[in-house]
Amino acid sequence: MGRLKPYVAGKGFGEISRRYGIPPSQIVKLGSNENPYGPSPRVAEALASISPERYPEPEALLAGLSAYTGFPEEMIAIGAGMDGVMDTLTRIFLDRGDRTFIPTPTFSYYEILTILAGAEPLLSPRGVDFEPPAAIPSGTKMAFLCSPNNPTGDAMSEKEVRTLLEDTDAIVFLDEAYVEFADSSLAGLVREYDNLIVGRTLSKAFGLAGMRLGYALAPQWIADQYRRAAPPFFAISAASAAAGAAALSDLPFMRRSVEKIVSERERLQSLIGSRPSQANFLYLETEQDSAAFAERFLERGIIIRDCRSFRGSGEHHVRVTVGTPDENERFLSALREICA
Ligand code: PMP
Repeated sequence: MGRLKPYVAGKGFGEISRRYGIPPSQIVKLGSNENPYGPSPRVAEALASISPERYPEPEALLAGLSAYTGFPEEMIAIGAGMDGVMDTLTRIFLDRGDRTFIPTPTFSYYEILTILAGAEPLLSPRGVDFEPPAAIPSGTKMAFLCSPNNPTGDAMSEKEVRTLLEDTDAIVFLDEAYVEFADSSLAGLVREYDNLIVGRTLSKAFGLAGMRLGYALAPQWIADQYRRAAPPFFAISAASAAAGAAALSDLPFMRRSVEKIVSERERLQSLIGSRPSQANFLYLETEQDSAAFAERFLERGIIIRDCRSFRGSGEHHVRVTVGTPDENERFLSALREICA
C-alpha cells in the first residue's frame, strides 16, 4: 500500500469557501469536469417518487442505456460511476504480478486500481502531440486508453485504436467518459473485438456526477463475468437508478446542454489560443508553476485544476472545465488580470 497515493479530486465549494472566506454562491467550480446545466428536470421528478425502503431495481436504467447506445442489455455492465465499473473489471482481470499499460498523462484511477490488484502499471508517455504509443507491449494484461483523454482533451482515431487492438490480446479498456462532447465514438468496435470494453458515464453529458452512475459496453463473455463479480445491485442506489432512467428518457435535454458546452469550448479555446479539445475542458500550458497559477484563480473564487497530480503532466499545466457563458466570463476576466 506504500506505493498508493490517494486519488486527487478537484477542489470543492466547501474547502474553497472556508479557505478564502468566499460564499459558496460566488464560487465558480471549473475543476472537476462537471456539467453546469445539471440533468433533465425529469430527474428531480423521478427522485421525488423513489421508495428508499426498497432495494434498487435497475431494469428501467438498463432499458434506457440500451435504447441510448443501441447495445443489447446483455452487453451492458452498470456500476457506481465508471470508477465502480472499472473497480469490478480489474478485480476480474488483474492478478498479482500482471502488467497494465497506461499512456500518460491520463486519468489517475487506472494506476491506483492496478496497484490495488498487486499488478504493475507500465506508464508510457504520450508523444509530442499527446498521441498514445503505437503498440501495446506483449505481456500486457489490461490496457487503459482514454478518448477524449483526461486531462489533454485529444481523441484517438479509429485507425489508432484498431492498430492497437489488432496486435494485442490484452483486455483493452477504452474510457469514453467525455465522448458526448467529441465528434464520434468508437463504441461500435466492441461488436468486432472480443477484448475491447468501452467505459461510459452519466456524470458528464447527463449532468449526474453526484449520482455515481457509470456503465461499460462489453462483449457478452465479459459482461457475463461482470454480472457474476459485481457487488449486489451493482452498488447503485434506488436514487441513482431512478435518476439515470429519467435522464436517459430526455436525450434532447442532454444534447442541448452538450451543444452549449461545445460552443463555449470553441469560443474559449480560440480566445485563449489553447490546444483544441474534444471534451468539456481545456488543457492549458502555464508559464509560471501550475500550482501558483491555479492558486491565483482559487483566491478569486474560481476553481481550476492544477495538473501536477496527473503523472506525466509536469509542472506547467492546468485544466479548466467549460462552464456556462457567465462562469467562463469570470474565468476569462481573472485570466486577463492574472496574466496582465
Ligand atoms: N474516466 C475519466 C477519464 C474521468 O475523467 C472520470 C471522472 N473524473 C471517470 C472516468 C469516472 O467517472 P464516474 O464519475 O462515472 O466515476
